[in-house]
Amino acid sequence: MKKFLIVLIAGLAAAVAVQSVWGMTAGETEAEIQATIDSQQSDSSEPSEPEQPESSELSEPEWQPQTVRLVSAGDNLIHSSLYEQAAARSTDGGYDFGALYENVADYFQEADIATLNQETVIAPSRAPATYPCFNSPPDLAYYLDTQCGFDVLNLANNHCLDQGTSGLEECLTFWEENYPDILTTGVYQNAEDEANIRTKEVNGITFAFLGMTELTNGLSLASDSDIVITQALDDAGMEELRTQIEKADELADVVIMNVHWGNEYSFTPTERQEYLAQQMTDWGVDIVIGHHPHVLQPVETRETADGRTALIAYSLGNFVSAQADAYCLIGGVLDYTVTRQEEGGEVTISSYSLEPVVTHYDSGYQNNRIYLLDDYTDELASTHGVRARYSSFSLSYIDSLLQEVVGSEALAGVTLP
Ligand SMILES: [Zn+2]
Repeated sequence: MKKFLIVLIAGLAAAVAVQSVWGMTAGETEAEIQATIDSQQSDSSEPSEPEQPESSELSEPEWQPQTVRLVSAGDNLIHSSLYEQAAARSTDGGYDFGALYENVADYFQEADIATLNQETVIAPSRAPATYPCFNSPPDLAYYLDTQCGFDVLNLANNHCLDQGTSGLEECLTFWEENYPDILTTGVYQNAEDEANIRTKEVNGITFAFLGMTELTNGLSLASDSDIVITQALDDAGMEELRTQIEKADELADVVIMNVHWGNEYSFTPTERQEYLAQQMTDWGVDIVIGHHPHVLQPVETRETADGRTALIAYSLGNFVSAQADAYCLIGGVLDYTVTRQEEGGEVTISSYSLEPVVTHYDSGYQNNRIYLLDDYTDELASTHGVRARYSSFSLSYIDSLLQEVVGSEALAGVTLP
């Protein structure tokens, strides 16, 4: 995203330069500009004609279709080996997560909008902690923001209360105060904050971002806390969710819902996931980004009640982790583009694909780092620490799993009409 802004600024500078070549000033009329062009043309030895191309350069540019490319990743699950390695790499007593993300950082930077499920809280006053009650070092945020360029973080998940209500309060304040440009979803300071739906406009298209979790590991907020975790556990919760989605739909061209749901280690969505996906998309959600099972689940489209095509990734699996099972180390990034074809027209999903990612570690969970599958090799797979338990771990293992769970269509990329 930041690179994109630099390109945009360079483009604007170029546009200004073109204007100054013509010597155009704010007060000049079109006739004066035309006269300038004509006098410039008369300098040349070619006979001058009232040609179209030059004058059309100065008229209003024709409307071009607007497109935005987004990428959404699954669980950023920071186990102890990840922050211990980061501490060992740091030269200033902090945590250097650079090596963990460096192979995928450009991929996320190049997208217009990048989203992630930040599974672990950051409560800066407390020491880092691993499973079952995670807490991650504040330095992690720098790498998510500056190195990878994530624009949206979902905070609603089963670990959001790992450090209690006060830890969650600290976490919300941390993101708000230190990374105000990152939008956070699913957990809010209070009801008013929840009602303030997070939106972002890129290339003339407005996006609304929502988040929710079905689970909080049996933990609940302190009864005197104002914090709101978006959940839809009963009829009243479902009605509130519907109101929120309909409001987001009014505010934005595209509504994106992060949802933490389903059964861990299951490659198949539950009936509840299917029911919620149907309800949420019928109410106005365009893209459902699912996570929590730690493994991949199918990516599919469905026609909504009002005839839109919605995109659902039931589970993107882990983005990074130090989990022990081979299938937990194969995740996916949903890579999708939305387009407004005609001026004032509807925005639709124009293409999507699932970009597989592999979390690699050497033996003993050392040197964790993430790769796009495109960059992963059999040579790397042969040195993966997971081979101590899964001797068959290889590109063909990964490919079989992907074909079985996700299918060839989403893996190859789908263009929608
Ligand atoms: Zn989870």
